Amino acid sequence: MKTTDKIIADYKSRFMAELKTKNPGETEFHQAVSEVVDSVVPYMVQYPYLMEQKVLERMVEPERVIMFRVPWVDDRGEIQINRGYRVQMNSAIGPYKGGIRFHASVNLSIMKFLAFEQTFKNALTTLPMGGAKGGSDFSPRGKSDAEVMRFCQSFMTELQRHIGADTDVPAGDIGVGGREIGYMFGQYKRLRDEFTGTLTGKGQYWGGSLMRPEATGYGACYFAEAMLATRGESFAGKRVCISGAGNVAQYAAQKAMRLGAKVLTLSDSDGFIYDEEGLDEEKMKFVFELKNIRRGRIKEYVTKYPHAKYFAGERPWRIPCDIAMPCATQNEIEKTDAENLVKNGCFCVTEGANMPSTPEAIAIFQGAKILYSPGKASNAGGVATSGLEMTQNSMRLKWTAEEVDQRLRTIMADIHEACIKYGTEEDGYINYVKGANIAGFMKVANAMVEQGLV
Ligand code: NDP
Repeated sequence: MKTTDKIIADYKSRFMAELKTKNPGETEFHQAVSEVVDSVVPYMVQYPYLMEQKVLERMVEPERVIMFRVPWVDDRGEIQINRGYRVQMNSAIGPYKGGIRFHASVNLSIMKFLAFEQTFKNALTTLPMGGAKGGSDFSPRGKSDAEVMRFCQSFMTELQRHIGADTDVPAGDIGVGGREIGYMFGQYKRLRDEFTGTLTGKGQYWGGSLMRPEATGYGACYFAEAMLATRGESFAGKRVCISGAGNVAQYAAQKAMRLGAKVLTLSDSDGFIYDEEGLDEEKMKFVFELKNIRRGRIKEYVTKYPHAKYFAGERPWRIPCDIAMPCATQNEIEKTDAENLVKNGCFCVTEGANMPSTPEAIAIFQGAKILYSPGKASNAGGVATSGLEMTQNSMRLKWTAEEVDQRLRTIMADIHEACIKYGTEEDGYINYVKGANIAGFMKVANAMVEQGLV
C-alpha cells in the first residue's frame, strides 16, 4: 500500500471507530457519515489545513440537538405522549434548513443522518442554507384531522422557541405535507405573533411558493434527464419503476410520464402496484385524489384499474425497467434488489428519497457502471425551492410557476455540473456520490474554517 493510501485508510478507520463509540447504536447516522468519509477523505488529504482544523470531526457533531416531550389528547380523550426532535447540524453557510418527518420509525439516529445529509445537499443547491432535520415518532396514518391538528400544535408549542426566519426554517418530509405545515404555521404565528417565512411548503394563499409541492419529484426528473444526456439518452420511451406514493413519488411519476416515459409502479409500506400499460394523466389524477384528499392506500389503484396488479408486502425492484426512482424511504433498495435491477437492464437509478440504497446496493450499481445518483444531489430540488420560497417571503413577492420552475431547472443543472466536476473518474465514469460529497463538503468546510472555531 502506498503511503498516502495508508494515511487515508488509517484516518478513515480511526474516524469511523471514534464516531461509533461516541454515537452508539445510531446505525443510519454511521451509514450516512461513512459514505461521506469514503468520498471526502482521499480528497481532503490534499488540503492539510482541513485536517489540522478537524473540519470533518466538527461536521459530524451537531451544533445543537433538541429533544422534547409532545403531549396531546386523542379523539377518545386519552393522553398520548410522543417525542419531538430538531437536530441543528450546521449553520456555516446559512440558517438551518431541513424538513420535519412524522413517522413511527423516527429516532435520533434517523434525525442525525437526515440532518447530516441535508448539510451537503443544501450546500449543493448554491443557496445560503445550513443543514437541519426534525420530526417525531408520531404517525399521522389513521389519525383524524383534529388529532393531527392537536399533535401539530403541541409539537410547535415547543419547537417555536428554537426556530425563526433567520435562525431555522423547517419544511415537510415523510408524513408532513400541506395539512401539517398549515397547522404548525398557525400555531407558530399565534405564539410568536409574527407572520414570517419561518416554515416552507406553506399554502398558496399564505406565503407558499408555486411549484414547491412539485419541486422534489420534478427536480429528480430534471437531474435524471441530465444524467441520461451524458449517454445520449432521454426519458422518451423508457420504462420507469418508482417506489412510494407520497409527495416525491407523485410528482416524479407525473414529470417522467410527461417527458415520455412509461411509469410502471408506485408503492407504499404495504406493497406495490404494477400497471403494465403505464400511468397517464387520468390515472395520476386518481392517485393525487386517493393519496392527498382521501388519504387512502395504493392498493385501491387496482380496484379502480383492474388490469393493474397489486403485490402485498413487496417492493417494485424486480419489475424490469430502464430507470428506477426510489422515492419512499431509507434503505429500501438492498443488495438483491440492486442485483435484480441491473440484471433486468436498469441503467439509471435516480434517488428521490434520502439514502434509499444500502451501501451494498450502491456498490452493485457503481460496479456495473450504471448511472446512479444519491438523493443529496437528485432530490435537492425540494429544499432548493424551499430556499426560493424564503427569498419570495423576504421580498414579499410571489414569482410565477414558470419563473420558479426555470430556477429549479438551473439549480438541478448546476448540481449535475458540480457532480461531473468532482466525480468524473479516470475512465470517464461519473461517480455522482463522490462528486456530490466533495462539492458539498468543500463549500461547508471552507466556510467553517473562515468563521473560526465555533
Ligand atoms: P410522503 O409522506 O409524502 O410519502 C412517503 C411515501 O413513502 C409513502 O407512500 C409511504 O407509504 C412510503 N413509505 C414511508 N416509509 C416507508 C417505509 N418504511 N417502507 C415503505 N414505504 C414507506 O413523503 P415524501 O414523499 O415527502 O418523502 C419521501 C422521501 O423523499 C423521504 O425519504 C424524504 O426524506 C425524501 N425527500 C422529501 C422531500 C420533500 O420535499 N417532500 C425533499 C427531499 C427528500 P405509507 O403511506 O405506507 O407510509
